[in-house]
Amino acid sequence: TAPRRDFTGVDPRAVLHEVYGYDTFRGEQGSIVEHVIGGGDAVVLMPTGGGKSVCYQVPALVRPGTGLVVSPLIALMHDQVDALVANGVRAAYLNSTQAPPERAAVERAYLAGELDLLYVAPERLNTETTLRFLARGRLSVIAIDEAHCVSQWGHDFRPDYLALGALAERFPGVPRLALTATATPATHREMTERLQLPQARHFVSSFDRPNIQYRIETKTDPRRQLVAFIRRFDSQARSTTGPVSGIVYALSRKSVEQTAEFLAGQGIDALPYHAGLPAETRAANQSRFLREDGVVMVATIAFGMGIDKPDVRFVAHIDLPKSVEGYYQETGRAGRDGEPSVAWMAYGLGDVVQQRRMIDQSPGDRSFKTRLGQHLDAMLALCETIGCRRQNLLGYFGEDSGPCGNCDTCLEAPETWDGLVPAQKLLSTIVRLQRERGQAFGAGHLIDILRGASTERVRQQGHDSLSTYGLGADLSEQDWRSVIRQLLARGILVARGEYGTLALGEPAAGVLKGETAVPLRRDVLGRSGGVGRVRK
Ligand code: ADP
Ligand code: ZN
Repeated sequence: TAPRRDFTGVDPRAVLHEVYGYDTFRGEQGSIVEHVIGGGDAVVLMPTGGGKSVCYQVPALVRPGTGLVVSPLIALMHDQVDALVANGVRAAYLNSTQAPPERAAVERAYLAGELDLLYVAPERLNTETTLRFLARGRLSVIAIDEAHCVSQWGHDFRPDYLALGALAERFPGVPRLALTATATPATHREMTERLQLPQARHFVSSFDRPNIQYRIETKTDPRRQLVAFIRRFDSQARSTTGPVSGIVYALSRKSVEQTAEFLAGQGIDALPYHAGLPAETRAANQSRFLREDGVVMVATIAFGMGIDKPDVRFVAHIDLPKSVEGYYQETGRAGRDGEPSVAWMAYGLGDVVQQRRMIDQSPGDRSFKTRLGQHLDAMLALCETIGCRRQNLLGYFGEDSGPCGNCDTCLEAPETWDGLVPAQKLLSTIVRLQRERGQAFGAGHLIDILRGASTERVRQQGHDSLSTYGLGADLSEQDWRSVIRQLLARGILVARGEYGTLALGEPAAGVLKGETAVPLRRDVLGRSGGVGRVRK
């Protein structure tokens, strides 16, 4: 452990060198640090591994007073503080796991001005006691990490974050930073608003992780597919770097345990990790994963946030993530060191059915469920794209790019089928309903009409008399859902309102006239016999 020292007023570059051992700031780090030291607020969007910590830690060290860091994960807090202390920084945390004497010591140090960084869990900042206590000391900066958690519509909402906006009034004049590695344009806006950062400068780095290769396939026999992927990857990597470390994400605890066992039975050094395991087992498995080469951690998404292992060579999903944000964040744990890495996924119809059921049964109003459904559809659109995966992914975060040459669809063009006629049937159904009856519907009812289903709603509305009624019976419901998702993804269809009713997008005119081709991905989720059948 280095001796603790006070860095107030020290040149930021010297701090960077002394504390972190880096010679230069990377990307936007330098401008962010300078802006915040000058007293400005900042919103920082930077991908995982981009180096967000430096952006708030250096200003906290250089400005007089203590930097307050709001961080949602206690485990992460421990690790960061330990690492800082080891590098001679006067850092500490306050959280519920501490014994009273330990807490009292941290509080004394803060009030005496002997701390440069103080990590606090968001729920503590909801209490008047904590706020009053903080006001008795001196804050240099306020950093809100994982700031997307304030977004009620995002994938990772934490109610305690809503109270953090109040920090603006409680501590006027203290520069604040909101940082995240995942934000769509909507989340970005919501973050800025809710955290009361109207004057902030926005530093938006590219979210691209060029060293990560994206690969997505449909499930046939997921565990066998996973083993095949790991073996292929391992044999390529082993020749140069030795056995590779990876993370496999599964949705349920049971699936985690079974998969870990299966992999172990195949001679892969796999360990399970989920919240239901005894704390000692989790700690032991995590520490093996961090310290040794070649360990594959099979985990629920509870694992990984804040795990700083730079050489994770692959992240595999054997279940479909609930949102693109989640997928991006989880895959982002691969290749923080910048070396070639792979994000691999297998998804299946069962995933989609299960997730739709969970959405239906979730508490929350109609518009909330519609939002969750849209998250899922965006995820499926990524799975079903015939274009570049990375382009789709970055586009979701509002970033324009060209085909990457380093994803499965760029490397081998996917097989397609001609979706013009089904697309026309669907679009003209929407047009008829709109023109003749002034009506708009969501995917479910439109599919019922096209497949000629005799539901109560169809009969009540007299939709069985439409000329397109039953015209699409050759496709299964799942095939139709896939057609609709792919049309949504290309803007040929747009979803509106709290029910997600479908309307025509701009390119629809060309499709109706037969001038725009509609190639659709063949390797998607459909029932056997349907056009979407998985072909070997
Ligand atoms: P994030 O929180 O954005 O995921 P971190 O702050 O954990 O990123 O940094 C990611 C990695 O990059 C770490 O291994 C860190 O040591 C390294 N890093 C950060 N800034 C620099 C820099 N200026 N020069 C070299 N390496 C850096
Ligand atoms: Zn690509």
